[in-house]
Amino acid sequence: MADTYKRAVFVGPKQIRFDDVPVPHPGPRQVVVKVKACALCTWEQRMYTGEEHFYPLAGGHEVAGELVEVGTQVYTDAKIGDRVMAGPLTRCGYCESCRRGLDNICDNSFKRFRDTDVPGPAGLAEYILLEDYQLYKAGNDVSFEEISLSEPVACVMRSIRQANLQRGDDVVILGAGIMGLLHVTLAKMASTRVIVSEPNPERAAFARKMGADDIIDPLNEDFVERVKALTGGRGANHLFTAVSIASAVEQAVAAAAKGGRIAVYASIHPKPAKITIDPNPFHGKEITLTGTMSQDKEDVRQAVKMISAGLIDLKPFISLTLPLEKLEEGLQAALRPDTYRVIMTM
Ligand SMILES: [Zn+2]
Ligand SMILES: [Zn+2]
Repeated sequence: MADTYKRAVFVGPKQIRFDDVPVPHPGPRQVVVKVKACALCTWEQRMYTGEEHFYPLAGGHEVAGELVEVGTQVYTDAKIGDRVMAGPLTRCGYCESCRRGLDNICDNSFKRFRDTDVPGPAGLAEYILLEDYQLYKAGNDVSFEEISLSEPVACVMRSIRQANLQRGDDVVILGAGIMGLLHVTLAKMASTRVIVSEPNPERAAFARKMGADDIIDPLNEDFVERVKALTGGRGANHLFTAVSIASAVEQAVAAAAKGGRIAVYASIHPKPAKITIDPNPFHGKEITLTGTMSQDKEDVRQAVKMISAGLIDLKPFISLTLPLEKLEEGLQAALRPDTYRVIMTM
């Protein structure tokens, strides 16, 4: 094993530095993973453009690699050399949120970011030090690129799991980026009818290919009227907003059926944002407006298991893979509307 390794740090808008840092060794309840793939999420893209600023940041939270060293008190059936997924969130286990079963929004998760010299999940690097509970054993015959997508799949797993879809339900997904499309994939697995709203014609065509039953072009069609027309006038049972635009939430509320549920999946930018909605449907139609954030340990477990068993095909979402040194090129590609996930490899 080398003595030092390369780690990318976001130091300012459009500024990335590569540090050489000593290869870590695990404490009793930690493991070290040799990173093989790290996908570029919207969060890292926003750090790169400066839309969000949290500098310096050791970014990279969609991580797959090979287990190289295990602490003396780690109890796992993963062996050295096995393919693993690095659970992205650090959680404390004892805050009010963790104890309520909401470890996806642990009160201390940001305080517990791994690297003390540079905060952040630190997956855009050749090695990563993890707490034992962050280690998820994956299948050894699945690619590292696909394993790295366990994190976005787990986020959508949570979104879909919380919605409790019933077979035959009418589901509307607003936005056909990768997160919207992963909603399509998982909602189709739940035997629902899926309608996608997406203005970009290429993305709309890809959504159709990925299983969407109907497409709405919200720029040229009346979204609410189209949802009603497609659902016998009732509206949709479930609507998921996978776009960062506040008006999408207003539209989703207006298109919900009686007893319908609207989930704000994507964060709305710029922050803070505002929506204006008539509160009467919450009363008269008993609709629910809610949302989800990240993923808990059960969502990650399910995602890694599905990917490892080949139950979900993620290859269509991998637009480009590049070596870590080409991170800037990767981020620029990730920002283009014609890419779904760009993955850095090590
Ligand atoms: Zn992510
Ligand atoms: Zn906590």
